[in-house]
Amino acid sequence: MSARRILLLGPPGAGKGTQAQRLVDRLSIPQISTGDMFRAAVAAGTELGKRLKAIMDSGELVSDEIVIDICRERLTQDDAREGFILDGFPRTVGQAEALDGLLDSLGVKLECCVALVVDDEAIVQRLLKRAEIEGRSDDNEETILNRMRVYREQTKPLVAYYRERGVLVEVDGMGGIDAVAQGIQEALA
Ligand code: ADP
Repeated sequence: MSARRILLLGPPGAGKGTQAQRLVDRLSIPQISTGDMFRAAVAAGTELGKRLKAIMDSGELVSDEIVIDICRERLTQDDAREGFILDGFPRTVGQAEALDGLLDSLGVKLECCVALVVDDEAIVQRLLKRAEIEGRSDDNEETILNRMRVYREQTKPLVAYYRERGVLVEVDGMGGIDAVAQGIQEALA
């Protein structure tokens, strides 16, 4: 039986979104991507969206308060009751602690944190390439380097956080999409 309450962890460009989509297809549970939710708010042109765009374009993190609010709302929706794939949340220890509290209050537990292990240099190159193809406004070199720094300082400590809780599995993220998907499938089994 595959785990169904899953967190994908890894630096920007590690392929979390791609792999999350594979899991959506295979497990029929929703992907919860804070990046996608924020981009939707930006596209909707709300006041919040304008603030979010400035933060995202700089490569800094959106405040824990905003992130936690939006995730609380999303995780309590019906379709997330039987499982979910978290992609891009939590990104700080504060968010991880808030997630623990939230899941406690729902009477469920995170079953598996899949950490994608990648080579930093290689993924900066991947992100620069994605910049050309998708034209995401936070995929320029300066922002990418800042996002990597923010990842190392604020998000990487979550690897130890989830290892201590006994739910961490590390998967090699440097292979092709199918190979990585296979590695994740084995980790969840
Ligand atoms: P990436 O491809 O770099 O992993 P995402 O699409 O997940 O990026 O997120 C894009 C941006 O949205 C981040 O650089 C950050 O500014 C903001 N963001 C997304 N998730 C979070 C979060 N959990 N906490 C704070 N900021 C976030």
